[in-house]
Amino acid sequence: MTAQLIDGNALSRQLRAEVAQRASTLKTQGTTPGLAVILVGDNSASQVYVRNKVKACEDAGFHSVLEKYDASMTEAELLARVEALNNDPSIHGILVQLPLPKHIDDHKVIETISPAKDVDGFHVASAGALMVGEVGFKACTPYGCMKMLESIGMKDLRGKHAVVIGRSNIVGKPMAMMLLAANATVTITHSGTADLAAMTRQADVVVAAVGKRNVLTADMVKPGAVVIDVGMNRNDEGKLCGDVDFGGVKEVAGFITPVPGGVGPMTITMLLVNTMEAAERASVG
Ligand code: NAP
Repeated sequence: MTAQLIDGNALSRQLRAEVAQRASTLKTQGTTPGLAVILVGDNSASQVYVRNKVKACEDAGFHSVLEKYDASMTEAELLARVEALNNDPSIHGILVQLPLPKHIDDHKVIETISPAKDVDGFHVASAGALMVGEVGFKACTPYGCMKMLESIGMKDLRGKHAVVIGRSNIVGKPMAMMLLAANATVTITHSGTADLAAMTRQADVVVAAVGKRNVLTADMVKPGAVVIDVGMNRNDEGKLCGDVDFGGVKEVAGFITPVPGGVGPMTITMLLVNTMEAAERASVG
């Protein structure tokens, strides 16, 4: 069996076109969705991510502001910038690119973002809203994975067993909560899981969010399962690859996401969706 690909680029194009349409409708009502992105320091990967986010906003017709600061910026100065953006009515979403320089407390900065503008979905209020089923913002990467499942007709996962590999606050844990909200039976695994393969072999859906190559191999996958690969690693040739042994697993799985061209583009797409949602909520007061 050869798995069908879930194409994150194609799905992103479709979702971004829908967002651009919503943005143009909102503009006719006097509101342009606005995203502010703050970058502190000169981390080269962060610079690429930030550029891509700003470009995606511009393509969707959003107002976007990129604030770049030297690594010597103090925590107090950064908190003051976040507060100013919280009070800026032209900005509906605020994203502070992580990682921050070591002298700045990430958690403190994220908690200073107004939950109404927390389009990355990292604020404790957003995580709590997800946990109890209230309105909030969903973390972009797992939200993108849910959209990928929806695109193959798996919006309601009642009766399905989903196994998440990884328990970070930004991917694994919110992923598990979103799968649970979609009625799946969910198992969260991590580095302390005794027999990972025994778990994944039972899964109808496996989401790998570890950051290590070949964490999921063909012998660990139930025939026909859906495999979502969040990992971003480099192979021996320096090329981008995921956590999944793609060549082997695609012969067993029913659906699989590639790396690159899978979850990666969906993350920025869901940032646009969240910013759009924030602007729509603000416009109705
Ligand atoms: P993280 O904070 O380092 O978490 C990794 C998780 O994997 C931890 O929970 C860890 O367990 C678990 N783990 C480590 N080794 C394991 C093993 N051998 N078996 C089972 N679990 C294991 O990473 P993250 O921030 O969640 O990111 C995960 C990956 O996703 C990275 O490659 C990252 O680059 C990628 N990512 C991609 C996107 C995207 O847009 N595509 C977005 C975000 C992240 P413990 O908790 O026990 O240590």
